[in-house]
Amino acid sequence: MDEDLKGKTALVTGAGKRSGIGYAVAERLAALGCNVAIVDLGRSSGAAGPVPTGTRQEMEAIAADLGRRFRVQAWACEADVTESASVAAMAAALRERCGHIHILVNNAGASFGVPADIISYEEDAWIRTVDVCLFSVFRVSRAVLPLMLGEPGAIVNTASRAGKVPPLFNSAYAAAKAGVIMLTKTMARELAPHRIRVNAICPGQIKTDLESWRFGLEAAFFGSTVEEREAEMCKSIPLGRIGAPEDAGRLVAFLVSSDSRYITGQAFNLDGGQCMEL
Ligand code: NAD
Repeated sequence: MDEDLKGKTALVTGAGKRSGIGYAVAERLAALGCNVAIVDLGRSSGAAGPVPTGTRQEMEAIAADLGRRFRVQAWACEADVTESASVAAMAAALRERCGHIHILVNNAGASFGVPADIISYEEDAWIRTVDVCLFSVFRVSRAVLPLMLGEPGAIVNTASRAGKVPPLFNSAYAAAKAGVIMLTKTMARELAPHRIRVNAICPGQIKTDLESWRFGLEAAFFGSTVEEREAEMCKSIPLGRIGAPEDAGRLVAFLVSSDSRYITGQAFNLDGGQCMEL
């Protein structure tokens, strides 16, 4: 893995916030010598529900910092992955700035609405959740693939443990992430002749803003504190801790490197051993 990522160009969506999984992925890839496009909303809070989003200022700071620390090129590119025109504009800007893209990480995601069963889940929140988590992968992949074809490449989609093991009162997110896993597999088959591998990661609990927000909601829903909810969760994780965004960075770096050259169409659990079925 040491050498083969050097000089490649990677695009990571949802990478414009230092506390998130996308940033950890972009940082890891930059550390391995990749040029990175930091794609995020570039707008302040509210646009992705109550969870803070990557602002223009933070995206610019991240790009400057990664470029300086790892001596790579890094670009901050605004795009709303729920809007096709915005995604197309981002792809056009990147064609100008960096030409070919070797690696795409479809990581942006959010969850709208409060924990609720299927009867009471608010329809608008359900549809927006599926849009930002699933339709976005289709939208961004379609726009970016023309920049990837012609050379070997790799795509990693961020799914979730929720796409494999049904969580309670979170049906939109679970259905969307299950869709991401199947989309990963269909893309893997379709893109194999183009020498583009496609895999998914399925994080369990990773310490980020999104996870903290969800824990807060669940704690209120189940009548416990966030600390109690986290402690309860840790009991179900064989490795005994909540994951760190860097854990995702390491797995994604492996999946886009030639160390995983014979792997495609798979969905890897990243959950400290929570999910162990055959
Ligand atoms: P996060 O909230 O820290 O990061 C999500 C990023 O996506 C933010 O930078 C946000 O600005 C960006 N984003 C949101 N809506 C967007 C839009 N419409 N257009 C462009 N960018 C947008 O959350 P995270 O935990 O780092 O989540 C990253 C991915 O990992 C998501 O797909 C999430 O569903 C998935 N995931 C997270 C966990 C976890 O425990 N943290 C578990 C399973 C899956």
